[in-house]
Amino acid sequence: MYRIVLKATRMAQDIVKKVIDETDIAVDATLGNGNDTLFLSNLLHRGKVYAFDIQTIAIEKFKKTIHERNIKNVILINDGHENILNYVMEAPKAIMFNLGYLPGGDEKIITRPDTTLKALSDSLKILKPGGVITLVVYTGHLGGAEEGLLIDEFIKKLDPKIYSVMQIKFANRDERAPYLIVIEKNDSYNEDKHN
Ligand code: SAM
Repeated sequence: MYRIVLKATRMAQDIVKKVIDETDIAVDATLGNGNDTLFLSNLLHRGKVYAFDIQTIAIEKFKKTIHERNIKNVILINDGHENILNYVMEAPKAIMFNLGYLPGGDEKIITRPDTTLKALSDSLKILKPGGVITLVVYTGHLGGAEEGLLIDEFIKKLDPKIYSVMQIKFANRDERAPYLIVIEKNDSYNEDKHN
């Protein structure tokens, strides 16, 4: 059966798929087990994926995947996404964040509000017009609710002339169920005119 309402991680991928084409640049801001990186890599045959994680274990695991599948279009970065401007010099069409902790890993290593907000704010600067940022936000773990609230405050203030922003939440599930934020940089937005 074809379903429209899916879990946040799947909806994020469906939205990104609509926006990118095979020559684009994309960023997975939270590599983790590599699901989004693999998803992006499979779509960007002639493009490139930058994938960040602070955990060496996640990077090393994905290096194996790269080797086994002979992947050529993924650049792994063992550093925080808050340093995105040091690594990504081309304008990405999609930037995906999947917050929280690494499933099956150390649950104490989580994304943090200050670094997430810095990464988000810098991601907006380099996002290509017409591109999207997706964030899957988890509020069930310690610190998750605070991170979610700060992100919600941040996105509410984004200029609607430049960005279209949506939150997609289950209305009939546990209120701690992960939710999705989608930020689209409007295609007609021209940085030069506004600087
Ligand atoms: N998308 C991943 C997947 O497909 O499995 C799941 C990501 S997991 C929910 C969150 C990841 O963010 C963890 O692997 C964690 O190490 C990483 N992380 C935490 N803080 C980070 C930061 N400042 N920069 C980059 N990655 C970070």
